Amino acid sequence: MSEIPGQARAVIIGGGVVGVSALYHLAKAGWTDCILLEKNELTAGSTWHAAGNVPTFSTSWSLMNMQRYSTELYRGLGAAVDYPMNYHVTGSIRLGHSEERMQEFARARGMGLHQGMALEILAPDEIKGKYPFIETHDLKGALYDPADGDIDPAQLTQALAKGARDLGATIARFCPATGVSRENDEWIVHTEKGDIRCEIVVNAAGYYAQRVGEWFKPYGGRTVPMMVMSHQYMIFDEVPEVRDWAGQAGHKLPLLRDVDSSYYLRQEKTGFNLGPYERPCRAHWADPSDPLPEDFSFQLYPDDLDRLSFQIEDAMARVPILAEAGLARVINGPIPYAPDGNPLIGPMPGVPNAYEACVFTFGIAQGGGAGKVLAEWITEGATEWDMWSCDPRRFTDYTDHDYCVQKGMEVYGHEYGMHFPWHRWPAAPDRKLSPAHHKVKDLGGQMGAYAGWERANWFATPGDDVSEQATQTWNRTGPWEARIREECEAVRDNVGVLDLPGFSRFHLTGEAAGDWLLGKIAGGLPKPGRLNLAYFPDNRGRIVTEMSVACNGPDDFTLITAATAQWHDYEWLTRDLAPGLTLIDRTREMSTLIVTGPESRALFTAIGTDADLTLPWLSHQQAHVAGRPCILARVSFAGELGWEIHAENGHVPTIYEAVLQQGAKPFGMFALNSLRIEKGYRAWKGDLSTDYSLLQGGLDRFIRFDKPQAFPGKAALLSEKQAGVTKRFVTLTVDAGKADAPYMSTLWHDGQVVGETTSGAWGYRVGGSIALGMLRADLAYPGTEITIDIYGQRCRAVVQEDGPLWDPDNNRLRA
Ligand SMILES: Cc1cc2nc3c(=O)[nH]c(=O)nc-3n(C[C@H](O)[C@H](O)[C@H](O)COP(=O)(O)OP(=O)(O)OC[C@H]3O[C@@H](n4cnc5c(N)ncnc54)[C@H](O)[C@@H]3O)c2cc1C
Repeated sequence: MSEIPGQARAVIIGGGVVGVSALYHLAKAGWTDCILLEKNELTAGSTWHAAGNVPTFSTSWSLMNMQRYSTELYRGLGAAVDYPMNYHVTGSIRLGHSEERMQEFARARGMGLHQGMALEILAPDEIKGKYPFIETHDLKGALYDPADGDIDPAQLTQALAKGARDLGATIARFCPATGVSRENDEWIVHTEKGDIRCEIVVNAAGYYAQRVGEWFKPYGGRTVPMMVMSHQYMIFDEVPEVRDWAGQAGHKLPLLRDVDSSYYLRQEKTGFNLGPYERPCRAHWADPSDPLPEDFSFQLYPDDLDRLSFQIEDAMARVPILAEAGLARVINGPIPYAPDGNPLIGPMPGVPNAYEACVFTFGIAQGGGAGKVLAEWITEGATEWDMWSCDPRRFTDYTDHDYCVQKGMEVYGHEYGMHFPWHRWPAAPDRKLSPAHHKVKDLGGQMGAYAGWERANWFATPGDDVSEQATQTWNRTGPWEARIREECEAVRDNVGVLDLPGFSRFHLTGEAAGDWLLGKIAGGLPKPGRLNLAYFPDNRGRIVTEMSVACNGPDDFTLITAATAQWHDYEWLTRDLAPGLTLIDRTREMSTLIVTGPESRALFTAIGTDADLTLPWLSHQQAHVAGRPCILARVSFAGELGWEIHAENGHVPTIYEAVLQQGAKPFGMFALNSLRIEKGYRAWKGDLSTDYSLLQGGLDRFIRFDKPQAFPGKAALLSEKQAGVTKRFVTLTVDAGKADAPYMSTLWHDGQVVGETTSGAWGYRVGGSIALGMLRADLAYPGTEITIDIYGQRCRAVVQEDGPLWDPDNNRLRA
């Protein structure tokens, strides 16, 4: 007889902190009929040797949410599951060496206050009050996080395991999963102790996630985008000053993070733990000469202190008593990295009823929140917070091994790096190129990567400083500013062209395709030859995605969506595609040029086209431009007269050349961002996310409650409409200083948090700083004055009329 149950609702593969937290949260949600498989003892992977730091700090709203939740969970967990454990909430001090770093801290503080956390900015002379052993002469200040701390990772995992078992879940230790197969819409997870049939499978295999992921390839899976870094920390012997101070204070020293020098220093018993993220870093198991072993349970890499010498010396200069301490032990273990350093939590791309909760670089800090998020994905099909930052579908087919290794090393070496809005992380460029790429580069294009696609952010002219160094600022001003202004002005006064490869493009056909689509979107569909925006709500009425829908004929539609949304949206469309309908992904076959500005019609005439240029705004037609076949869609995300040219890749260079020859000025994504914000056009996963309902998002005119087709979220939206929304999308003009409002800047009114921005930029046509955001409904009317916390500066902002700031009646679009 098999030693394990033959049937379960969900099977989790991997018994590290993340898998066990997922099991615990599933059980708490009532899914107690779940089994976790661990090939060795619980915690045998990365969890075992983790240092156990539990920060809340992040400049990502969703990661901060997840980490904050972890700290709240861990505080009560020992009592909740009756498993006492060591969790020291010591607070932490992040040291700032530059004004830019202090601005980053202020931004995180603003977000933290919004989330109910009491982050504080410390002046240099206040630091010693909390940490007497530190040199502060070269610091600008610090960020104090009272909720930071450290936990024993093994105890944490065991506590979660006890909680899960007590609720009825099963943990099978020393039970490796060996593969999966599928039968009658059920998974069969094969193990050394027998098979388990189940509805849902979760890959929580830590640094083995890629190997486990291979089993899912026959069922639509891809190679899990990840690599493995070696990471070390050093434990130092007792330091008498630390012992005495902690003895007197009755608590540990706060954890110190010198983020500009790239290490943390923590009190460990009466000594220290020093953990660097070094630039000369080391990937493991990254090439055939160093293969991933079959088993690495409870094992470490050999010490390699040479590459840490900068951080060791720096820490000893910062906290001189460290130099007195003897080095007791070095831990050098594997940490998996996804190409952006965030974990993979959510639906496994391409595979039905399979999920991922793996590739965590900070799994101890994030494990609690990750368990909650994963359980929500499985039990409700949606998460409380928008979790796109961790969604496995954010990576598509450009993340090959070489890309993962290069990016993983870049992220590790800049683990505490600042993510400036103008900066492009340089590793692993050129994954996906526009057919006009070389021309764009020749014109001075300063490229950015958008889901792997290279697009110009702005066009430099000879003599402009295009160094990486110049981008190290939060401020608007920089070599790009004058160029963005010129690009926007060309679009306003004349005509501009943007080479925009990578739009996700799906072709939907089949009997009653329109009817089916109407059952997915909140609004209506265009007639043949026309196009419109369509919003896809979830069952809660929240914004899942936005697509442009072009009707080509009866039951024949082209759906166009963001480059980054390719896998996400494809899955949303195909998950319950009606029988008889066909959905084809044409993303790779075609590319797009945006030609826009008051002279765009004249430009097309001059080039030569058989298109009818009098067809109205929101129309599309087959045509020839410069003798090449294309589709001309009369829309402009920039808010001027204009057309999108959609053409097969081979025709794009000729058309681009012809458009340039007629004097169109090339413009980039930075200009487009400014132009679209002036029009109040929302961007996906900034302004449009599952954090907000369609009604909160101000998308009322895209909802047709009276159409015959039921659509997801209709009931929720109707009751929200009746009750009235609690917050509402607004456009704000901002008395900004040197910087415009980034995503998730906190809105204040009368000393209270009243909302957040979802995007912001300088508007070169309106001549001012603009923010889009969500504001408490009772304040969301024109003329209300609020303040926005922009990198720590409280800036006055005024709510505008509901509608675009630029050309509110769309006269220029209709011209
Ligand atoms: C030196 C070091 C210090 C760190 N310090 C911190 C820190 O201070 N704070 C922090 O947040 N993070 C830290 N980390 C990172 C942290 O350890 C990881 O992010 C976290 O442990 C990941 O947990 P996990 O559950 O995803 O993976 P793991 O702990 O690796 O668990 C995966 C499990 O899956 C099992 N498994 C694999 N294949 C199979 C199979 N086929 N069948 C059954 N089971 C299988 C493995 O045996 C393993 O137990 C540190 C890491 C290192 C190396």
